[in-house]
Amino acid sequence: MKKVQKERVAGGSLPPQGGASGRCKDDYRVGFLAADKAGDAADLPASRDDDQRKIYISNSAGKSRADVVICGAGIAGISAAYHLAVKRRMKRVVLVDERPPLSLTSDKSTECYRNLWPGPGDAMVGLMNRSVDLMEELARESSNSFHLNRRGYVYVTADPKRISHFERFVKETSELGVGPVRYHTGQRGDLSYTPHHSTGFDNEPNGMDLILDSKIIQRHFPYLSRDILAVIHGRRCGWLSVQQLGMYMLDRARENGVRLIAARVENIDVADKKIQAVHLREGSGTATVSTQHFINAAGPLLREVGLMVGVDLPVFSELHLKMAFKDTLGAVPRNAPMLIWTDPLILSWSEEERAMLAESEETRSFLEQLPSGVHTRPEGGPDSDILLGLWAYYTPPAEPVFPFSIDPGYPEMVLRGLSTMIPGLKGYVERLPKATVDGGYYTKTRENRPLIGKLPIEGAYVVGALSGFGVMAACGAGELVAAHVAGSKLPHYASAFALERYEDRGYQRLLETWSDSGQL
Ligand SMILES: Cc1cc2nc3c(=O)[nH]c(=O)nc-3n(C[C@H](O)[C@H](O)[C@H](O)COP(=O)(O)OP(=O)(O)OC[C@H]3O[C@@H](n4cnc5c(N)ncnc54)[C@H](O)[C@@H]3O)c2cc1C
Repeated sequence: MKKVQKERVAGGSLPPQGGASGRCKDDYRVGFLAADKAGDAADLPASRDDDQRKIYISNSAGKSRADVVICGAGIAGISAAYHLAVKRRMKRVVLVDERPPLSLTSDKSTECYRNLWPGPGDAMVGLMNRSVDLMEELARESSNSFHLNRRGYVYVTADPKRISHFERFVKETSELGVGPVRYHTGQRGDLSYTPHHSTGFDNEPNGMDLILDSKIIQRHFPYLSRDILAVIHGRRCGWLSVQQLGMYMLDRARENGVRLIAARVENIDVADKKIQAVHLREGSGTATVSTQHFINAAGPLLREVGLMVGVDLPVFSELHLKMAFKDTLGAVPRNAPMLIWTDPLILSWSEEERAMLAESEETRSFLEQLPSGVHTRPEGGPDSDILLGLWAYYTPPAEPVFPFSIDPGYPEMVLRGLSTMIPGLKGYVERLPKATVDGGYYTKTRENRPLIGKLPIEGAYVVGALSGFGVMAACGAGELVAAHVAGSKLPHYASAFALERYEDRGYQRLLETWSDSGQL
């Protein structure tokens, strides 16, 4: 191994990937002015280029009023603001973030989506199907400004014992609402396999293709290992630009009156178990926004912000990394889908490498069986040669800290893992390419389902614990939390994501035997 974890480099403060800065240019410069200039959030004009749209809050006693204050302008908070202001026409919605929008976790994501989620129950599939419906709606109205594609997720196995698991998985998830299964077994009467398109999302098949015929696998995926025995091609899946989706929703929200404030939510006044006001700080300036509704969309800081209203949310975090490198060898075609190896892996090492890895407790486990789920996809348009690679081979629970340290051995581990699935990548293991590594925290509940809904304080809500699925769930999650705030009819999956679920005895029993978290 070339770069065993001897040194660690700082992460979490890397510039956002993909060129866009994350900062809303001048939108984000918010003045904290003297008390006599303090205004009411709703009184300020919505014009984008008017200086007065800034919310002026005092260094001392300035007060504003808002109908809803949202803490966190990640993809979840932005979606909540969009649904409240644009879809529900709610006035005086204030979005507060101490960082530029989308810059903490959301723009570090792999930006992929899928409706393919396991049970128990159909809640995850229901939420994701709704979220994809909403993303498609936004893509249509914005001329696909965020490059939504539908290339699919290709899950592969080379283990004959796992084929029956694949068969069961497609059958069960199809029944949960993922869509029809098309079997490709090489027998007469099989439907023909329809390959995906590189761009766009219309006119693509739904559901899943289960391919057991090696001829079809090799014809359509010639770059994958010949050892692969079965492929599931999930079709309501693909990727997008989260930066562009987030900015599209944020722009629409701002046009509809949402105010973005660059500040830290420092504490929250609660009296008689009701939200009263939110206290903000920006530098040495402080401000208070009176409100009866507060949404916690603080991403990895969800628990910290939850404690401000006296609710200890049952979440923990794991650090997940992602590498990007130039595929100069052309090992993966530019039109490839998301590619996922689903078998556990044992990496091969030379004698010298084995001895080196065995020396340290941190690296000794790399000699043993490592988890499944190493995955890759091409990033960028046809002129790009970037590949993304991810593998959660070591993700213990961790307290979120920023900046966090990055394992310098990560690219090599990912490339070794990926080259089992894509032999053309082996060339990079010998000669490691220059790689950029970034990442963030998956903040999650123990069963890896989100928290969306009311908290046991009147007027307090949460949209979080979005783990490794916050981009794909954002539109549906924002819509759901907005429905809670508005007190409107909730979709059938709402109760599965409410905090109250943990009070249910049946759910507690279910948790004891919960096996598949569905996470990559
Ligand atoms: C490596 C990696 C790959 C991923 N891949 C995918 C993927 O392919 N598909 C997918 O769907 N998801 C993916 N995810 C998960 C996804 O990125 C997250 O679930 C999602 O971004 C969470 O969004 P959020 O808005 O909840 O949090 P964030 O984006 O972290 O936003 C929270 C915001 O709250 C602000 N905040 C917190 N506390 C305060 C405070 N006190 N005052 C003011 N502001 C505050 C923060 O500054 C931050 O901007 C991935 C994540 C990682 C790390």
